[in-house]
Amino acid sequence: MRCPFCGEVDTRVVDSRLSHEGDQVRRRRECAECKERFTTYEVAELTLPRMIKSNGSREPFREDKLRAGMLRALEKRPVEANRIEASINRIKKALMTRGEREVSTRDVGELVMQELSALDHVAYVRFASVYRSFQDVNEFREVIDRLEQQPAPEAL
Ligand SMILES: [Zn+2]
Repeated sequence: MRCPFCGEVDTRVVDSRLSHEGDQVRRRRECAECKERFTTYEVAELTLPRMIKSNGSREPFREDKLRAGMLRALEKRPVEANRIEASINRIKKALMTRGEREVSTRDVGELVMQELSALDHVAYVRFASVYRSFQDVNEFREVIDRLEQQPAPEAL
């Protein structure tokens, strides 16, 4: 950590303490050169990445949009609201723990499909058909066949 007064690279920590909430570390540092003291704060970066759309434009992550997309696929399906919320939280956690500033909407779509395949096969197919925009009927057929070989989530 460079000294903000003289630019010296060699600074040492003279005091280090946790904030009251425990989510921040406050450090007092002293410059080895000019002896000035200054404070730094260390916080965990857990922010949701920005979305890179297929046309290359960027937009902030929006949970309501994610939820709306999933609910559309799950319309009239027998899936409890708390299971849907748990899925949304897993998706958000997966995005946060990647530690990347930007993630493509395609990657998010893959995470949604992973969750939907465990929640409800019909919802999965609905979402996948829109999201992957299957090139041909055979590709769609393959997905259906694969799902039919898995036990239905309701039966688990
Ligand atoms: Zn200095």
